[in-house]
Amino acid sequence: MLRKTKSYNQPKHELLTWGNLLDEESGTFPYNTLRTMKLLKELFKIYSPSGNEKKMRKFIKWWVRNNIPKATIKTDQTGNIYVTKGESETYPCLSAHIDQVQKTHSKDFEAIETKDYIFGFSRKNKRQEGLGADDKVGIWVNLRCLQKFDHIKAVFFVSEETGCQGSGQCEMSFFDDCRFVIQCDRRNGNDLITTIGGWTNLCSPEFVKAIQPELFGYKEECGLITDVGELKERGLKVSAINLSCGYYEPHTDREFIIKEEVLNCLKFVEHIISTCTDVYPHEDDDCFFGRNGWDDSWEEEYEEAYQSIECNLLNHPSLTTEQILNAYKGYFFSLKEGDLRQIIEEVKNINFIDDDNDTGMRLLPNHESGMGKENERIEAAIL
Ligand SMILES: [Zn+2]
Repeated sequence: MLRKTKSYNQPKHELLTWGNLLDEESGTFPYNTLRTMKLLKELFKIYSPSGNEKKMRKFIKWWVRNNIPKATIKTDQTGNIYVTKGESETYPCLSAHIDQVQKTHSKDFEAIETKDYIFGFSRKNKRQEGLGADDKVGIWVNLRCLQKFDHIKAVFFVSEETGCQGSGQCEMSFFDDCRFVIQCDRRNGNDLITTIGGWTNLCSPEFVKAIQPELFGYKEECGLITDVGELKERGLKVSAINLSCGYYEPHTDREFIIKEEVLNCLKFVEHIISTCTDVYPHEDDDCFFGRNGWDDSWEEEYEEAYQSIECNLLNHPSLTTEQILNAYKGYFFSLKEGDLRQIIEEVKNINFIDDDNDTGMRLLPNHESGMGKENERIEAAIL
């Protein structure tokens, strides 16, 4: 069982502000004519909030039908999409979620591409808007790999951001012939997530060794709630990982991607698919440590729960108290609901997360960002 401590790192890159990139003389963005990431920018344009992913589902099905005619597409009642290409005994499998957190997406939303970055922008409202790169970069990796490889599976989940609802109800038999499952749904550029929330192990050490993360600059890290974690908890019998895919400031209007890191992630995934042709079994016996008869004292469990909830809330600040309570129900022997409520409240207070906020916006102390006035207004209201 792994018990890594939480880690929350500020992006190492300076925060992007659109004002710095605008060429004042011409009033344009100098690199916006670049066409290297056309499909990704098309995905960014599609607004796909949790629970209303209709447009994105339609686009994915349309794109697969038109670009990968040999693939079979299945859907379920929840809205998840399952794609299988080629006939094989076993398949590499990719996973992504198709919902996004952002509440603002103007009609004239544009994905602006510069030499190094892509960010969202509304000219009419003169403001930066979130891309939903969490997890459209994951969708993009799935589609690109579906196009490139002859034998491959990919799954697209709805409503991850509201508590992994899609993966929580998906058809598990889809994964029976999978060698492993990769999700690209992590901010930054170098995190290889092999354990979630401090208690769900995702993969075997053999798999970590086989994928050679060091070749692409990836390092093992403890991660937060996402679909592959949900799949493991539902009994997925092969190794899974979650990878950084180059997005920053997820869930906010300041969200942006670093193109080089997005491409590095794609190359890493392609490398894994090409080189890891075995099945990589993994079952997490230690999943939910409470079940193994551990006699943790209340203090230890409190500390454990605190770290895990803080970890999750920093990554998913829009999670409501009820969603968190639901997710943690029954995991801790000695903690009562009141204890968990207290932890959630404390974490939200310390990290300036609005209680049950619906903007998904994270406020950090000493924050410098393109949000400008909106942040000042909210900060003023808090202080
Ligand atoms: Zn995500």
